[in-house]
Amino acid sequence: MAVPRDATSFDVPFDIASVRTDFPILGEQVNGSPLVYLDSAATSQKPRAVLDAEASFLSRSNAAVHRGAHTLAADATDAFEDARVAVAAFVGADPDNLVWTSGATAGINLIAYSIGNASLGRGGEAAQRFALDPGDEIVVTESEHHANLIPWQELAARTGAVLRHIPVLDDGRLDLEAAAGIVGPRTRIIAFPHVSNVLGIVNPVDELVSLARSVGALTVLDACQSAPHLALDLPGLGVDLAVFSGHKVFAPYGVGALYGRSEVLEALPPFLTGGSMITTVTLEAAEYLPPPQRFEAGTQPVSQAIGLAAAVRYLGALGHDAIAVREASLERRLVAGLREVAGVRILGDAAGVDRVALASFDVDGVHAHDVGQFLDARGVAVRVGHHCAQPLHRRFGLTATVRASAAFYNTEDEIDTFLDALSGVRPFFGASA
Ligand code: PMP
Repeated sequence: MAVPRDATSFDVPFDIASVRTDFPILGEQVNGSPLVYLDSAATSQKPRAVLDAEASFLSRSNAAVHRGAHTLAADATDAFEDARVAVAAFVGADPDNLVWTSGATAGINLIAYSIGNASLGRGGEAAQRFALDPGDEIVVTESEHHANLIPWQELAARTGAVLRHIPVLDDGRLDLEAAAGIVGPRTRIIAFPHVSNVLGIVNPVDELVSLARSVGALTVLDACQSAPHLALDLPGLGVDLAVFSGHKVFAPYGVGALYGRSEVLEALPPFLTGGSMITTVTLEAAEYLPPPQRFEAGTQPVSQAIGLAAAVRYLGALGHDAIAVREASLERRLVAGLREVAGVRILGDAAGVDRVALASFDVDGVHAHDVGQFLDARGVAVRVGHHCAQPLHRRFGLTATVRASAAFYNTEDEIDTFLDALSGVRPFFGASA
């Protein structure tokens, strides 16, 4: 993170009371208590600016984009393309390098199927650099969300490529020494999360990108859990491709983005095909538009993209430094507090690493679902289960954990309410020593 870990909230102004009123849902009561929403890693809450932007577009400017010559269609197209400019800038990219998707899962599948199509000879000569042969290797990490694992399993099955993984150390960091032994001349793709949705640890993108470059492999970054928290500069990180979801960055559902370096997007064949991605079509064949439209077949999530642009503008107005300082404070309170609760074991409790305000933990003697229910009865919303990361849970000998994940709109008091409630879990279930 750009902001030092020991920065205090006094260094950068942030009016938390006013921010909280921007999120109508944060004033709700749940089970007779004020809502303490600590499930932002699953989906974030949406500020009024986002709700209003979507409603305003739908009630005043809605029309089919990139089609039709009427004024409303032109206005809608302008709003849609302005949204692309704003969201691209949010990740430090040019608009031509940003493809709309319906979310991160769709983005990763787009990449995997495009590479699969290149492997079938589609996309002409330029695409052949992506074609996989039997025995080529795709490398992921042991910490993947299933969305950045199963599409690669399927691609490996279709092409005869071999899927390998970088192990996770006991403290949650990636085993980079092992990675250096795993990545080799047959490695063609390295896909990894910027921030694990279970561990909250920020992975060393630079080192993984260097490793990939040393063997000429393509890098795919799952930025789902970093985009809501870190100021992203995807071109600066040097990754070839990256994805994130709108609904995790305070924006609507059903929209996300794929970033790609120009030379990669230009050479990749499309995944979905159909309307809006072509230049000329005959009954026998079609020619495709350049990126990003080449990857945007069919009607796009227009109002959602406008909502996503409103979300990134909202974040920009708050200021990334102010957000980072607030979240660093929440992260310290959360992690230090969890370490104090008897019988609680944090997964990936590595010292001195950069992390976001997210932690998954096991409560000795109490099932995660019981913990979740106990907290829910007190208005505290957390996530329980495997968080779509079964291999990582298996790595730690668990099937389920509890995950608390905060965002800039949470308060230290809410973290304390959660920790107080959590302290009551083991006594309540008779699990205390
Ligand atoms: N990757 C990570 C790290 C995630 O946390 C998630 C969402 N839980 C995804 C991918 C998938 O995102 P979506 O469901 O929005 O497509």
